[in-house]
Amino acid sequence: MAQQHRTPIESGCPDGLQYTHPVMRKNFGLWKFHEDPRPGVLRHVAHSGDEIWTVRAGTQRILDIFTLRKLCDIGDKFADGYVRFTIRSNIEYMVADEAKVQPLINALEDAGFIVGGTRNSVAMISHTQGWLHCDIPGTDASGVVKAMMDELIEEFKGWNMPNRVHLTTSCCQINCGGQGDIAINVQHTKPPKINHDVVGNVCERPSVVARCPVAAIRPALVNGKPSLEVDEKKCICCGACFPPCPPMQINDPEHTKLAIWVGGNHSNARSRPSFQKLVAAGIPNNPPRWPEATAVVKRILKAYQQDARDWERINDWIERIGWPRFFEVTNLPFTKFHIDNWRGARRSLNASTHIRF
Ligand code: SF4
Ligand code: SF4
Repeated sequence: MAQQHRTPIESGCPDGLQYTHPVMRKNFGLWKFHEDPRPGVLRHVAHSGDEIWTVRAGTQRILDIFTLRKLCDIGDKFADGYVRFTIRSNIEYMVADEAKVQPLINALEDAGFIVGGTRNSVAMISHTQGWLHCDIPGTDASGVVKAMMDELIEEFKGWNMPNRVHLTTSCCQINCGGQGDIAINVQHTKPPKINHDVVGNVCERPSVVARCPVAAIRPALVNGKPSLEVDEKKCICCGACFPPCPPMQINDPEHTKLAIWVGGNHSNARSRPSFQKLVAAGIPNNPPRWPEATAVVKRILKAYQQDARDWERINDWIERIGWPRFFEVTNLPFTKFHIDNWRGARRSLNASTHIRF
């Protein structure tokens, strides 16, 4: 008998359009223009003449149920009962009546939320999971965000920057986390320490060997037990071996540091992508407030604010003034750690005598 086809049950995300504000649904794809009447507020006007106002407030992304209920209550009482979250963890309320905008802002601010994050502000930092929800973080990205945004509230609330600034954080070196105008990323500085007593029981050794991008890991017998060894001369301290093999511990209170990269930007209709570059390394990974990393971020933001032309993003600004001037105006030291001397970088360094135009 022919086998009967079993239709898979579709259990993906439901279509989000059904949950959007009725004015947005009605005018989907039919907007005429939008403008920014004040920080944290957008006004969209449709060809039909309909208007909708959006009020944006920052949140901590990992929300407890009480805060979430509070935000929803504000939406029911002061907005039209519709919210959405942006990819940078802001909550946005939509209202079809301009008279509701100011009372909504007042209600959010009275409850301790910060309205802003639009146009030429420092947007909410996007971050990865950190200690709460992942098995390999070397720092708590959410904590770094909280500590930094506490000091950047005015930059979030106002339009004080030459253009928008996207900040990102990431709590390991290899997995999620994006590039941003300023990215705060973990930097491991020592090879992993191996607990040979458990490797044989816990790790699938061929997969761990295959994970290493520089072939620094070899199978080995240690004290008669199957284990692994690392050629520390080759190891680039990336931490890729740690997720499949937790006994290859790379997180370390002293040697796991933070590094700051700048100038990353995704491609868009007008420009190519630009890749971020390391500007500060070996910054102490210092919870709960990470003051050293915050100080570097603030220094870069101040130099950008003072030196960039209107509407230049950080990467445009650096391209115009050049890297030597960037280090001069930010007063960041240029050290040997900024030089890409990894042997695999022969392909990425411009090491030939060819002249390129
Ligand atoms: S960046 Fe790394 S450690 Fe952080 S959540 Fe993603 S995978 Fe986990
Ligand atoms: S840290 Fe990275 S380079 Fe070093 S042994 Fe592990 S996978 Fe290889």
